[in-house]
Amino acid sequence: MAKTKFITHDCTYCHKQTKMEYIGEMEGVTPEGTQRFWYRCSRCKHSLLITLSVVKEKKTAAPAIDRATCTAYTKDRVFSIGEHIYHADLDDVGRVVRKDKTSNGIHSIIVAFERVGERRLLENVTGDLLEEVPEDPAPEGQPQP
Ligand SMILES: [Zn+2]
Repeated sequence: MAKTKFITHDCTYCHKQTKMEYIGEMEGVTPEGTQRFWYRCSRCKHSLLITLSVVKEKKTAAPAIDRATCTAYTKDRVFSIGEHIYHADLDDVGRVVRKDKTSNGIHSIIVAFERVGERRLLENVTGDLLEEVPEDPAPEGQPQP
């Protein structure tokens, strides 16, 4: 979203919605994805610090994944970070964001899928190692039940 020079916002001095002129911004974006901006009320000419949400493009930042370029996921393959994969059971495409290896020597990849979000999948499974890992997105670092 382009920076708009004027916004309509509640003025704490006028106690009503007024037209405000953009003056400048404060340093840094908070972890919540908001940033503070200075605006001047066009009615009373007071300057106000207004908190606005600036991190909106987070979801659309990554380019859409073309299924034609994806590697079909199978658990015996080895994937690399950044690789695009297609998961037939989930019917979703995603990008490998991390790789992991458990203390049992089980290799897994963490894939950010476009629709279902992050999932941990097995990779490099040779032979009949174990059961499939549960595909519920378990919180990081917590043991599976
Ligand atoms: Zn005002």
